[in-house]
Amino acid sequence: MSEITLTLPDGSSRSVPSSTTVADVAALISPGLAKAALAGKVGDKLVDLSYPLTADAPLQIITSRNVADALPLYRHSTAHLLAAAVTNMFPGVQCGIGPPTDEGFFYDFVVPRPFVPEDLEAIENKMREMADQDLVFERQMWPRDEAKRFFHERGEPLKVQLIEEKTEGQSEVSCYTIKDKETFVDFCVGPHVPSTGKLKAFKLLSTSNAYWKGDARNQPMQRVYGTAFLSDKELKEHLTRIEEAKKRDHRKLGRDQKLFMFHQWAPGATFWLPKGTILYNTLANYMREVLIPAGYTEVKAPIVFNKALWETSGHWRHYRQNMFLVESEGEQMGLKAMNCPGHFLMYASEVRSYKDLPIRFHEQTPLHRNEASGVLSGLTRVRQFSQDDGHCFVMESQIGDEVERLLRLVQRVYGDFGMTPQMKLSTRPPEFMGTVETWNHAESELKRALDAAGVPFTINEGDGAFYGPKIDFDVTDAIGRKWQCATIQLDYAQPENFDLKYVGADNREHRPVVIHRAIFGSFERFIALLIEHFAGAWPLWLAPVQAVVLPISDRHRDYAAGVQNRLAAAGLRVELDDRQEKINYKIREAQLQKVPYMLVAGDRESAEGTIAVRSRSGGDLGARPVDAFIADALEEVRRKSRHEQPEPATSL
Ligand SMILES: [Zn+2]
Ligand SMILES: [Zn+2]
Repeated sequence: MSEITLTLPDGSSRSVPSSTTVADVAALISPGLAKAALAGKVGDKLVDLSYPLTADAPLQIITSRNVADALPLYRHSTAHLLAAAVTNMFPGVQCGIGPPTDEGFFYDFVVPRPFVPEDLEAIENKMREMADQDLVFERQMWPRDEAKRFFHERGEPLKVQLIEEKTEGQSEVSCYTIKDKETFVDFCVGPHVPSTGKLKAFKLLSTSNAYWKGDARNQPMQRVYGTAFLSDKELKEHLTRIEEAKKRDHRKLGRDQKLFMFHQWAPGATFWLPKGTILYNTLANYMREVLIPAGYTEVKAPIVFNKALWETSGHWRHYRQNMFLVESEGEQMGLKAMNCPGHFLMYASEVRSYKDLPIRFHEQTPLHRNEASGVLSGLTRVRQFSQDDGHCFVMESQIGDEVERLLRLVQRVYGDFGMTPQMKLSTRPPEFMGTVETWNHAESELKRALDAAGVPFTINEGDGAFYGPKIDFDVTDAIGRKWQCATIQLDYAQPENFDLKYVGADNREHRPVVIHRAIFGSFERFIALLIEHFAGAWPLWLAPVQAVVLPISDRHRDYAAGVQNRLAAAGLRVELDDRQEKINYKIREAQLQKVPYMLVAGDRESAEGTIAVRSRSGGDLGARPVDAFIADALEEVRRKSRHEQPEPATSL
């Protein structure tokens, strides 16, 4: 038998007889590795441990340490285990597909009745039973016609369809059994872990309605979601994070704190209740305070535009299905889904000189996008929203400086919320407009700006928009989830579409470059992020109610009302709780509402002109003169969140 040579990750090589399996090689290296092995990687290709090696190649034995390869493999294998359990418990069930996801895995089934929570528990128990039996995953190559006949006779037309679509022109197709084909068999290219005994840290989470291939016109299915990790510890941490996320859910806290509501007669459009409006306006005004000194002018463009504008911008062709359309006097109009075209008309309304550039417009008026009602969710998927939207009109030579200014602005803003954004530069995609030289110049300017701002960044090659490169920003919230917020996008296309010009030093007309930029992104989404990040425990500068004055009894009411007036006159948002309730009850309620300061007024405080201060985070701070409290509170507001810690996750 001929010998082949395998190159291992440490650079060493081994010669083995051809057809030696990956598992055999692992055993040759060490018994420990043979035990830990989950799969192999031949060159770039993941394969089963049973895969026979027949040519010289680089080989890596995959264990749970190689998370990037092992985790999806582990999750996908767990999805098979789920399908095996379901088909054994529910005769006549049909299997769809079961891929791994970023958070776990799912599997879709056609079942006679929807799953109920008790089913999930029973299915998970069956999975554990099958894992304990350590059943082998075996790859079998079946003649294509035989495979189709087998699944057809078993009443699985969806699998027959998949085989037809995915294996055209092949004589054999790859199927995997668990134990044997009576126990479970699935059409799948693999690879999988060698046996079910490897699968330990998994959990089924929920079920939902689904459709074959995600299309509502197709067969309805039931999707079972689960998650799996390479260790029990990671699984536990993930489940804790899910619980923590539920507690922080902005939809729940928005209700508890009376920030906003929705109504079926305005799907996807937020009603900002009084406290939510305070929060919203605090953010809107904060953004104005940041942008005006940075050289922006605020504008307000119309909300409804004639379709001629959308034809000029290209949205009529590419984006119409996402727009709300209305008609007036026989003319078709569209509600704006973005601010840019309005800003272009304002830019073009005057002759612009190179001396005027950069010109920076920002606008916070509402935008509308006609999202399907089925995907609407809280503040994160809405139909009506506002952005802290801005457009900078610059000369080609100003791109680098302008972007550098913007990067500093983004860092400063997120710093005010106690967050650090991570930056990603997306470069020229395969399909692009303009010349390679222009793109290279723009990309090198963006890189220079990122370097100059002294921030680490990653590069997403080929992920830019067709009209220009962009920088995206992610922030990580208090429980480790990433949110995409700010964006900076260069645009060479729209200045052409709108024939935008400036008169250069040479007295000739030139095209400006447009930079689309948003720092919060949308107010709605940003507020959702803030609610979940702070878990509703607002830093003082954002809190809709910053302090509540609590008279101990009726005779302290006038004094307490006087304190309230003084705080309000100083610009603090303050309430008076003069209900005839016990003081401890009132304190507890204010704490549940996460009010930053509770100011208790009794005999001693009234006599001495003080208040007894309790803070949400630090408990009893003792009696303070009212003026001293006001001065400290104003200083805390001015500092924003720079020294604030978000509410710690309870059990992480
Ligand atoms: Zn599979
Ligand atoms: Zn724009």
